[in-house]
Amino acid sequence: MRWVEVVEAEADAEVDAEAGVVMGVDRVAWVVPRPPGQEGSVSAPVVGIESRTLLDCRVIRKSVPSAAQRWSGLSNSRFSIAVTHLTFVVATFASIAQTATKVATTNSITGIAAPVLRGERMIVTVASGKGGTGKTTVAVSMALSIAADQDMTPLLLDCDVEEPNSALFLGQLVPPSAAWERRQVGQMIPEVDLDKCIYCKRCAEVCQYNAIAVVGERVLIFPELCHGCGSCTLNCPTEAVHEVLNVTGVIERVIGGPFDFAQGRMNVGEPMAVPIIRQLKQWVIPPAGSDRGHPIILDAPPGTACPVVESMSGADFVLMVTEPTPFGLHDLRMAVEVARDELGLPVGVVVNRDGVGDQGVDAYCAAENIPILMRIPLDRRIAEAYSEGQPLVEALPEYRQRFVELWRRIVECEAQG
Ligand code: SF4
Ligand code: SF4
Repeated sequence: MRWVEVVEAEADAEVDAEAGVVMGVDRVAWVVPRPPGQEGSVSAPVVGIESRTLLDCRVIRKSVPSAAQRWSGLSNSRFSIAVTHLTFVVATFASIAQTATKVATTNSITGIAAPVLRGERMIVTVASGKGGTGKTTVAVSMALSIAADQDMTPLLLDCDVEEPNSALFLGQLVPPSAAWERRQVGQMIPEVDLDKCIYCKRCAEVCQYNAIAVVGERVLIFPELCHGCGSCTLNCPTEAVHEVLNVTGVIERVIGGPFDFAQGRMNVGEPMAVPIIRQLKQWVIPPAGSDRGHPIILDAPPGTACPVVESMSGADFVLMVTEPTPFGLHDLRMAVEVARDELGLPVGVVVNRDGVGDQGVDAYCAAENIPILMRIPLDRRIAEAYSEGQPLVEALPEYRQRFVELWRRIVECEAQG
């Protein structure tokens, strides 16, 4: 039995010290392991986070069954799992509907979405089709410049969980007294109680990802293939399957520097970055509709694969950092296809190392009606500062105002639609 501390939970949640489970809730935000005898306490209210991706314990309803549960005929634990699945499906459809609405309000000529309301949070993802274009330089410098210029504290997230590097530039900026907060994250995977198993192979049949196999009187589970869908748990006729947290990484944040900062780090050898990025965002980004108008900047991983899509998902604007070379143009095209054409997000470009290469990026942006919001020239001093872990605007303070202007232009572009 693993004991837990509920860090955030719904107001009516309570911890059963004997059973080590959380009762009376469908969702629990965060739990962390606690040693036996030190059962946790509850603080409320919650920022709702889907339970199955985070829990170190099972969420059950010990209270009198609701009408819906009686109607379903399911046991407490199965009903809870079914509710979780239903919540996930509803949230997915809501997300699709939201994206569809945003696309529907898109200007058919510019491809730019409708503006967010003033006073709401503003989320900008800094992305690029390839690595080494200067994403982190731009993201860190923009956060530092906004923090110095305006009466607000930006939030910077390093979403490149396979190889986060934004923190390298924070070294001298975060006071030693600042406390890092860390949480283990992962995915729920099945665990089988062989005493209850009748080796019927139903779990293997329903698994769409070949993550579970029954061979004779052995049940093999392959965590690296498991997507945490819960089908095996729901379909086991003897309730031999339960779920445990497979830790795949850590998310951490620090408050006390010039801007709030958070990052995720995936354990070596883990195949899936998306759940860690998703949990990082859920942890630190204030919910939609919040009146916290502070800038939120996400430093995305390189490329155009799923981790990048997750980093762009929910953003108000995507800032592409590229270099004016044929390689830069090729990867910029792919990144624009994802951000603008697939996700319906407004995009703008920063040309880094301006002066090298050719005019291909300029011609492409002009043809596609994509604004070039800033140009950073090829400058040896910038490369030297980068190699020493010094933010661009610390090494060359004259750039501060240019990054403030960059943010102003992003907000303008986003608001104009
Ligand atoms: S479905 Fe349940 S009982 Fe059947 S093989 Fe899988 S774990 Fe065992
Ligand atoms: S949780 Fe889903 S993906 Fe994982 S083993 Fe069970 S059925 Fe397969």
